[in-house]
Amino acid sequence: MFALMFILACGSSEPEPSALKSASAAPAADQPTTLTVASSSVATEALAVADVADGVEDKVAHKCAGCALGMDGSAEHAVTVDGTTLHLCSSMCKEYFTKDLTGNLESLLN
Ligand SMILES: [Zn+2]
Repeated sequence: MFALMFILACGSSEPEPSALKSASAAPAADQPTTLTVASSSVATEALAVADVADGVEDKVAHKCAGCALGMDGSAEHAVTVDGTTLHLCSSMCKEYFTKDLTGNLESLLN
C-alpha cells in the first residue's frame, strides 16, 4: 500500500503546471524551505537515515525522502528540517512530504 502511494506521488505522469509556469516571468526553483519538527527521537532517527541513504553523512539527503529514498532528489526542491537538508525529486513531492512532515519522516523508518 505504501509503495502504491509513492508511485502515485512520484509517478512519471506527474502533472507539471506548465500553464502556470509559462505565465510566470521567472519560473525558478522552489523557494528554500526551512521547517522544524517537534523534537522526537523518531524524527531525528529518520533524518539520520535519510542523510546516510546517499552514502555520505553530511547533513544533506540527496535521495528523495518523499519517495522513501527511492529516487534521486534535487537541490531545486530542498527542504531543511532541523539542520538536515532533504533534496526532494519534484515540487509535487516536496508539497506532499512537507504536508505531513512528521508522518512522512516516521514512514522512512518502517
Ligand atoms: Zn520524490
